[in-house]
Amino acid sequence: MTQKTIKRQTQAIHTQFSRRDAYGAISMPVYDTVAFQFDDAQTMSDAFCGRIDAPDYSRVANPTVTFFENKVKAITGASYVAAFNSGMAAIASTLIALAGSGKNIVVSKHLFGNTFNLITKSLARFGVEARICSMTDIEQVRSKIDRNTCCVFLEAVSNPQLEVADLQQIAQVAHACNVPLIVDSTAIPFTETHLADFGVDIELVSSTKYVSGGATSLGGLVIDYGTVDGFRDKIAFEILFNFGSYMTPHAAYMQALGLETLNARYRVQSANALELAQRLRSLKAIKSVNYIGLPDNQYYERAQRQFGATGGAMLTIDLADRDACFRFLNRLKLILRATNLFDNKTLAIHPASTIFGNFSDSQLQAADVKQTTIRLSVGLEDVDDIFNDIKQALE
Ligand SMILES: *Cc1c(COP(=O)(O)O)cnc(C)c1O
Repeated sequence: MTQKTIKRQTQAIHTQFSRRDAYGAISMPVYDTVAFQFDDAQTMSDAFCGRIDAPDYSRVANPTVTFFENKVKAITGASYVAAFNSGMAAIASTLIALAGSGKNIVVSKHLFGNTFNLITKSLARFGVEARICSMTDIEQVRSKIDRNTCCVFLEAVSNPQLEVADLQQIAQVAHACNVPLIVDSTAIPFTETHLADFGVDIELVSSTKYVSGGATSLGGLVIDYGTVDGFRDKIAFEILFNFGSYMTPHAAYMQALGLETLNARYRVQSANALELAQRLRSLKAIKSVNYIGLPDNQYYERAQRQFGATGGAMLTIDLADRDACFRFLNRLKLILRATNLFDNKTLAIHPASTIFGNFSDSQLQAADVKQTTIRLSVGLEDVDDIFNDIKQALE
């Protein structure tokens, strides 16, 4: 069987090393070295100038990280994958590669807090304009794009609003103006769906989350489907060199292992989340349950079409007010009060006072982040125990 004909899950397990290991190791060793030696000066020059594929310095290339990147490439069918030392590093690097003074980014009003600040504060200082809009209002998206737009950026499932935009529709509008569509797909593993089929040009992933396998390490991925002119070269030969935020070998080792169990974990976590979402509706203290895997959720059909049959491990509940949220968090015994998503353990957080803690009331309102919302990341525990902990914490 060739690597091309085997299924993704098998692909994730059986990605070949670029070179045969000297000892026949079956796990990719951690190449914890900064530099690599060459047999002669010409080979060294060829490696430095990109004429041959050989690592020279671990700020830009390392065998363990390359192995992890190749696994992701095999699974996604992307033409280029680069691993970074955090999700934010992958997002920042991509936007820096695409944007420039005088350019604008058409961006969702529903964004991860740090991404929002990166675009509206950090990049704004370098003359990049943020054009914030609702990604579920296609006419608004269309009206924001002009000849200086360098990309449209949104999240596959926004967090914590759990909004799912129609990717194909947005891609059509963006591509009509020659503008690439960049999607942060952290909430839906690339083992589940192929977003390039919906017109996504570049996927960005915080591999800290689902991929790392139980919050073992920080990481970020740029998954490039090869449709944006010159992008790959900018990342490979400019951004990685000049900004120095490549993934470390140790993180790549853990995340390559995480990839092998991702499919199995995702299935259990999604099933737990669905079961929990259904059961939580029976609790009077909970005003509403928001989960894209519930058949009566407004985004259910779109999510099924774009992301496959499972809804993932993120859901939110709304309680009476902020005080009720704090009381609930304080009474949890099993579920951890912690940020992060898709850990093996179930985690709970009040986004408005933490991730969005530096937002003003009007900013919170504009981003639809409510004081009444608790976000849950559902883990691998027995679902009875997760439910019982929530129930007792609400009593
Ligand atoms: C966590 C997260 C990020 C940032 O990733 P880090 O690995 O923490 O830097 C970006 N986007 C989304 C949707 C996230 O959940």
